Amino acid sequence: TKHLRAADLFAALENVTRPAAKWTGATFDIFNPSTGELLATLPDMGIDEAHTAIEAAGAAQGLWAAKPAKERSTILRRWHDLIVEHGDDLAAILTAEMGKPLAEAKGEVLHAASYVEWYAEEAKRVYGETFPAPANDRRMLVIKQPVGVVGTITPWNFPASMVARKISPALAAGCAVVLKPAEQTPLVAGAMFVLAEKAGFPKGVVNLLYAAEGAPIGRELCSHPKVRKISFTGSTEVGRLLMRQCSDQIKKVSLELGGNAPFIVFDDADIDEAVDGAVQAKFRNAGQTCVSANRIYVQSAVHDAFAEKFVDRVRELTVGDGFSAGVAIGPMIDSHAIEKIEAHVADALAKGGEVRCGGRRLGTRGTFFEPTVLTGISHSMRVAQEETFGPIAPIIRFETAEQVVAEANDTIYGLAAYFYAENLKRVWHVAEALEYGMVGINTGRMSSEAAPFGGIKQSGIGREGSRHGLEDYLEMKYLCMGNI
Ligand code: ADP
Repeated sequence: TKHLRAADLFAALENVTRPAAKWTGATFDIFNPSTGELLATLPDMGIDEAHTAIEAAGAAQGLWAAKPAKERSTILRRWHDLIVEHGDDLAAILTAEMGKPLAEAKGEVLHAASYVEWYAEEAKRVYGETFPAPANDRRMLVIKQPVGVVGTITPWNFPASMVARKISPALAAGCAVVLKPAEQTPLVAGAMFVLAEKAGFPKGVVNLLYAAEGAPIGRELCSHPKVRKISFTGSTEVGRLLMRQCSDQIKKVSLELGGNAPFIVFDDADIDEAVDGAVQAKFRNAGQTCVSANRIYVQSAVHDAFAEKFVDRVRELTVGDGFSAGVAIGPMIDSHAIEKIEAHVADALAKGGEVRCGGRRLGTRGTFFEPTVLTGISHSMRVAQEETFGPIAPIIRFETAEQVVAEANDTIYGLAAYFYAENLKRVWHVAEALEYGMVGINTGRMSSEAAPFGGIKQSGIGREGSRHGLEDYLEMKYLCMGNI
């Protein structure tokens, strides 16, 4: 029955809120990256459909913003309940289109639901401010109002949770939304929109666009005057482009972009825990996350012990189809991803790095790559300079805290960093010195709906999750009442 229910969701995609009126009839295909099998054919939408969707959102905006917060909250809560109820079905769709192991997909769906639940609750807690006026004849206060229509664009690596993270705070704040999911993974987003319709969002409040290509819809979202804000997660390159396109109309932006996360193991760390944390931070989602540990720095005295234990653990990771039992590492999203990984490994080997395990593509079908550990890596190699986005763990030896902090900060990115140390003084000094929006201390995993997720430097603008995530979809308005 599980598959039947998933099939029902697929069928219901046909009816999802979308501006069908002008659709030209062009289509694009979605494939399973583990098998190459064709999963679905969807309408390929462009500028006209985006325009229609934005107009629909614009028409719904006023009514949605005027709804009592408690009503918005109730609808979001119903959406949360439906996502949880259909957790297994959504996970199956997610694994089919993206490849990650089914258990990880289920975890992602529940993580997505937790954001919807959080913002169902926060919707009721949009507080203003009053403050003392400098003169007695007046009163001063601040109210918070929704930004307006929000255009959102999401990536393929977390196709369910990125949707929830973006649109649930926007909806809670009172914004109507238009979403374009990644072309590789639009199905789970579609299924979530089916459930959103069931939850009872009024017509025009949530709008979904499918497209084989992001650029035309991106341009329309950035240039239509009714869109007041763009919220994007993806590459820094596309983030820059969207920010430029938004500058003409000074649209607000929230950007979650690339990272180059350092993972630092100091000589006073608990090595077994550091190995555990590194496996999680590096190999979750097959290394395809913007907070994946991209470069692992280990202090000289513990380097060999760490590397040995880490390699043993990595050898145990099973690679395969996300639907097979016991699989820890699914396929890469496509062959371009494999090419980048291969180029990074080749560059490291040419410059004196050593493969301790893995290092090659696997099989002839699908896009699988062996979990790989490299040692003898230096800061200047491509694998330490660029985001690899794959199951490659390069280990760099270091001597002093000063040196490692300088190398960790020597990047345009500033999303996530991790370090393991026990000495309290060191923990504080390093936590404060790392130029990152998020720092995991003695943990390899920190994402939570209760916490502000986001980056500094060229990793982005704004935060998702926590009460701060709601603020990003609110404007403040200062009211001054005179003659009192
Ligand atoms: P990735 O490397 O993860 O695919 P991208 O930044 O290319 O990262 O893609 C993330 C999202 O941005 C996807 O939904 C994609 O369709 C969209 N996208 C890509 N190029 C553009 C663009 N020029 N304008 C708007 N959206 C885009």
